[in-house]
Amino acid sequence: MSGVLAIMEQRGGAWNRMSWETLVAGQQLAKQTGVAASAAVVGQDIAALADELAHKKLERVYAVGHELLAAYTADGYTAALEQLIRKAAPSIVLFPHTYQVRDFAPKLATRFGQVLISDAVGFRVDSGAPVFVRQLFQGKLNADVTPGGGEPHFASLQAGAFRADQVEEGAAQVENFAPSLSAETIRAKPLEPFRESARAVDLTAADIIVSVGRGIKEKENIPIVEELAKALGAELAASRPICDSGWLPMERQVGSSGQTVSPKVYMAIGISGAIQHLVGMKGAKTIVAINKDANAPIFEVADYGIVGDLFEIVPALVEEVKKAKG
Ligand SMILES: Cc1cc2nc3c(=O)[nH]c(=O)nc-3n(C[C@H](O)[C@H](O)[C@H](O)COP(=O)(O)OP(=O)(O)OC[C@H]3O[C@@H](n4cnc5c(N)ncnc54)[C@H](O)[C@@H]3O)c2cc1C
Repeated sequence: MSGVLAIMEQRGGAWNRMSWETLVAGQQLAKQTGVAASAAVVGQDIAALADELAHKKLERVYAVGHELLAAYTADGYTAALEQLIRKAAPSIVLFPHTYQVRDFAPKLATRFGQVLISDAVGFRVDSGAPVFVRQLFQGKLNADVTPGGGEPHFASLQAGAFRADQVEEGAAQVENFAPSLSAETIRAKPLEPFRESARAVDLTAADIIVSVGRGIKEKENIPIVEELAKALGAELAASRPICDSGWLPMERQVGSSGQTVSPKVYMAIGISGAIQHLVGMKGAKTIVAINKDANAPIFEVADYGIVGDLFEIVPALVEEVKKAKG
C-alpha cells in the first residue's frame, strides 16, 4: 500500500463532524498497514481548515481550492478529486458516508474503474490489506468486503463507526492543489442550501430522556411512554421510524439524522439499537433499555437492561416513580 487519503467534508468553512471520524479511520488504517495517512479539504478559502489539519498526525494535507468549488457540485468535486488522486496516488481513499459523498463518490470511483465500498462500519487488516465490514439486512449480518482490482480503492464510513475524539495530533505539511476546472463542465447550478427551521425542542439540554421506538407499535400507544417521561420530568424522544411516521415531530428524533444527545439518563424503550440510533445517544452517562428481544443490539450499550414487554413494564415503572415521589 502506498498511502491512505481521507477526504474531509466542509460547508461554508465549518467541518462536518463525520470528517474527523474519517480522519481517525485513515490514521488507524495507515498505522496498521505501515503507510502514511494524508487528508484533503476541498472548497474555496480553505486555508484555515487546512491549517487546522496541519496539526494532525498526517504526512500531507492537500488544500484543493478553486472558485468553482465554492459551492458543492458533483461535477466539480469529481473532477477536482480525480486530479488530486491521480497526482497523490493513494492506495485507499476514505470518505465520511454523508449525503454529499453518496452523491459524487460512486462517480469518482468509476473514473478509476472502481466501485465505492459504501457505509462501512469498520475494517480489519488481513495480510497487510484492508477488509471492510458492511452491515446487511438492517444490521443483522456483517459482510466482509475485500477491495478488488487495482488501486486506488474507495470506501465511505458510517456515522459513529469511528470516534472523532481519537484523532492523533502531530504536524503535517500543507500542499495547495489547484485543479484545472472550467465552468462549462459543471452542469449543476447550486442554489441556496436548504435550512432547517429553528428547533423548538432542544434535547441536548435534557438531563433525562425517555426515547421510544417501533416496539410501541402504534401512535395511539405513545401516551404510555409519555406518562413515564412526565413522571420522571424527562424529555420525550424517538427513533427515526416513529418520527418518519409522524407519531412524534422530527425535532424529537435521536440519531445520525436527528439530534445527538448526552443526558445523564437515556431510556430506550422498544428501540432495537441500530447504529444510526446509537451514534446519537451512546454518549449518555447511563443507558436503560427495555426490549422484549434479549439479543437486541441496544443491550450492548445499555448499563441496565430489562428484557420484557414494554406494555407491562412501562406502566409499572410509572406507578413506582409516582409512589417514590409521594
Ligand atoms: C441514512 C440513515 C439514517 C438513519 N438515521 C436514523 C436516526 O437518526 N435515528 C434512528 O433512530 N434511526 C435512524 N435510521 C434508521 C435505523 O437504521 C433503524 O431502522 C431505526 O433506528 C430502527 O428504529 P427502532 O429501533 O425504533 O425499530 P426496530 O429496529 O424495528 O426495533 C423495534 C424494537 O422494539 C422491540 N419490541 C417490539 N415489541 C416490543 C414490546 N412489546 N416490548 C419491548 N420491546 C419491543 C423489538 O424487539 C425491536 O428491538 C437511519 C437509517 C438510515 C439508512
